[in-house]
Amino acid sequence: MNKSVAIIGAGVSGLTCGVVFAEQGHRTAIFAKELGQQTTSGAAAALWFPYDVEPANKVIPWALETFRTLVDLARNPDSGASMIELRQFSRTEEIRIPDWAIPLGARRLSAVATALCRRAGGSRAKRLDTARRLQDFQSGFSLRVPLMDTTIYLDCLTKRLLGAGGSITENVRFENLEDVDSKYDLVINCAGIGSRELVSDAELEPHRGQVAIVPRMKDLPYAVVCDDAPLMYAIPRRNDCVFGGTNDLSDDLAVDSATTARIVAECSRALDIEKPNALAERVGLRPFRKSGVRLERARLRDGRTCVHNYGHGGSGFTLSWGCAGEVVKMATL
Ligand SMILES: Cc1cc2nc3c(=O)[nH]c(=O)nc-3n(C[C@H](O)[C@H](O)[C@H](O)COP(=O)(O)OP(=O)(O)OC[C@H]3O[C@@H](n4cnc5c(N)ncnc54)[C@H](O)[C@@H]3O)c2cc1C
Repeated sequence: MNKSVAIIGAGVSGLTCGVVFAEQGHRTAIFAKELGQQTTSGAAAALWFPYDVEPANKVIPWALETFRTLVDLARNPDSGASMIELRQFSRTEEIRIPDWAIPLGARRLSAVATALCRRAGGSRAKRLDTARRLQDFQSGFSLRVPLMDTTIYLDCLTKRLLGAGGSITENVRFENLEDVDSKYDLVINCAGIGSRELVSDAELEPHRGQVAIVPRMKDLPYAVVCDDAPLMYAIPRRNDCVFGGTNDLSDDLAVDSATTARIVAECSRALDIEKPNALAERVGLRPFRKSGVRLERARLRDGRTCVHNYGHGGSGFTLSWGCAGEVVKMATL
């Protein structure tokens, strides 16, 4: 039976749930303080890869489900999703390829420093020189993964939702889930870090991330990521490139220009390029939940059914379709 569904939140979790509900024929309305680009989701690098999220036994199946959907979406270049080679490095040890990555085609990078030398036409002397400077990378592996260009992808989700008859209302801040109009039978909580106040969840921690957007790098054909401190990534997109990053326990949404300078310097050093100008700087609060993603059905004080879908930490995009599918199943039981 079709339901009347109110979704709180217009980041990647809320929008993806909205698309799934609306395309299944449910009357779907999203309400949010901020929309797509203004949310944490708008600040994300948005590469598919499980990171800074718990618990692994649930996260990996949701991530793999999302992977499959995104591979399909990436066939349409207008979706904002595409496939990219991810080169994941370690500075400190022999990198372990996660078990789940092997069936997806992950392979060890043999000569890490040479692999990182992106100037394929460069001289041997240049490559050796680069190798010396990059000796802090001990090992790495490569894997083709989906990348979502947030500047396109979130708008595409919005269009899909509206095209399926859904609606979005901005500038709505709920104090309680019960404040949602009683004409909706179902309430879906996709409020990200906002769930700390909305449902008084003390398990949530803001894992602050800052990125710098730099001009497009047409000769960087793959994403470079190193999770060892200092966290470093360079993710080329269609029209620009995302340099990161940081992961600190902090609520501070203000951009720190010294951090941007540090990010740009570290990425430029690793890629062996001149420092580019930062076109923009973005900060977001990854909604990390100590006891793991909250994906569960509950009952509101007024008797209505609610499904919580928040706490995706550094993996909101990576888990989005897997979690949305689960939410719809739980909600329509
Ligand atoms: C720098 C950075 C890089 C990242 N890189 C990646 C990556 O490469 N891959 C990946 O998978 N993930 C990445 N992430 C993590 C990802 O961005 C988050 O997991 C994801 O954005 C969470 O999405 P969400 O929709 O749950 O929450 P949000 O995007 O925060 O959206 C929450 C929504 O709820 C609304 N809201 C909150 N409280 C209320 C309220 N009381 N009333 C009404 N509305 C409310 C907000 O306005 C907003 O619309 C990154 C994050 C950062 C900061």
